[in-house]
Amino acid sequence: MINESDEYQEIRDAVRQLCGQFPDEYFRQVDQQRAYPEKFVDALMEAGWLAAMIPQEYGGSGLGLAAASVIMEEINRCGANSGAVHGQMYNMSTLLRNGSRAQKEKYLPLIAAGKLRIQSMGVTEPTTGTDTTRIKTAAVKKDGRYVVNGQKVWISRVQHSDLLILLARTTPLAEVRKKSEGMSIFIVDLHDSIGKGLTLRPIPNMVNHETNELFFDNLEIPEENLIGEEGKGFRYILDGLNAERTLIAAECIGDGYWFIDRATRYANQRVVFDRPIGKNQGVQFPIAEAYIEVEAANLMRFRACALFDAQQPCGAQANMAKYLAAKASWEAANVCLQTHGGFGFATEYDIERKFRETRLYQVAPVSTNMIFAYVAEHLLGLPRSF
Ligand SMILES: Cc1cc2nc3c(=O)[nH]c(=O)nc-3n(C[C@H](O)[C@H](O)[C@H](O)COP(=O)(O)OP(=O)(O)OC[C@H]3O[C@@H](n4cnc5c(N)ncnc54)[C@H](O)[C@@H]3O)c2cc1C
Repeated sequence: MINESDEYQEIRDAVRQLCGQFPDEYFRQVDQQRAYPEKFVDALMEAGWLAAMIPQEYGGSGLGLAAASVIMEEINRCGANSGAVHGQMYNMSTLLRNGSRAQKEKYLPLIAAGKLRIQSMGVTEPTTGTDTTRIKTAAVKKDGRYVVNGQKVWISRVQHSDLLILLARTTPLAEVRKKSEGMSIFIVDLHDSIGKGLTLRPIPNMVNHETNELFFDNLEIPEENLIGEEGKGFRYILDGLNAERTLIAAECIGDGYWFIDRATRYANQRVVFDRPIGKNQGVQFPIAEAYIEVEAANLMRFRACALFDAQQPCGAQANMAKYLAAKASWEAANVCLQTHGGFGFATEYDIERKFRETRLYQVAPVSTNMIFAYVAEHLLGLPRSF
């Protein structure tokens, strides 16, 4: 495999070294127990990796999205799953870009010190799905507080976070000029909220990913927890979503390389009909094809990162990177499973676990059809299809 070193090589080496302390058995066991990889996450926090994007004045490393994406890539490339922690990176970018000085001073040093986690973002709702502007969760201002009522679904890592970034309607849809207006984002302190207006119901699912239904019943949020201006939350959340898509593209690329490494190793070692299976073109060509596609997706991922870090519009590149990378990692997963034959299904090879994990990314955080719709409408000028 080409292993060109890049300007992030030091980060890559250091993250690999940390991940090296957590062997495959650790992640396999965590998966089987449907547990949270506490020790691994603590080690990442202690080493400062999850504070990478916090400016140095607040105690972080002041790195950009490109560096953050390399951290996520390397975690997945080592066989782990950044899904346990990636929320911290993209929620951070929402707070960094749109939070007030007071909010940054209150939260960022604690996050940088590993004392506070901002792992969760609440956007999706059960009755509106991808049609985000129709969300029904409402926040009504009353006596210096916002009172929240409504429901969210698939909200991840809530039980392993201290803070949640919540998107809610502050002006009813019927009263706004444009449907993207009238929504706001808030910092929700989960310790002040769970059991006091916020109830969780975990959703058992295909991967070991802690995710929940959230029920808001007159939850009160202090007025100062509003991020940015009231009514502009949708625009702010898009910044976070572009960061999220780009980071997840990087994770898929990490997965893709992991699958190709494993497939290549096995194809060289496994001897059937008196020769390594990798000698057959029917086995080696699909691996080569998967590798080419991961490499190509990687280019778009760095393009999206560069635009984001230059504060340039990057919606198109973030979406396209996520599409290409999720497709490439899924193809690599399929090839890796096929190359291993029956052994690919054995838990001890870790392929079935990574196979399940990488499949998620064609559905969440944005499904493939929505990316096609974005490109068709915004890049190609085709009529809006919904
Ligand atoms: C494990 C997991 C973790 C998640 N974590 C979070 C989280 O932390 N926070 C959060 O807010 N959300 C989270 N999500 C939600 C995720 O972002 C949504 O599931 C995803 O955006 C799709 O929304 P939906 O499930 O409501 O699908 P729907 O909107 O119901 O769509 C279903 C299918 O129909 C297709 N479809 C719908 N409309 C159209 C159309 N007009 N044209 C073509 N195709 C269409 C979609 O592409 C999709 O394939 C998570 C989801 C999962 C599974």
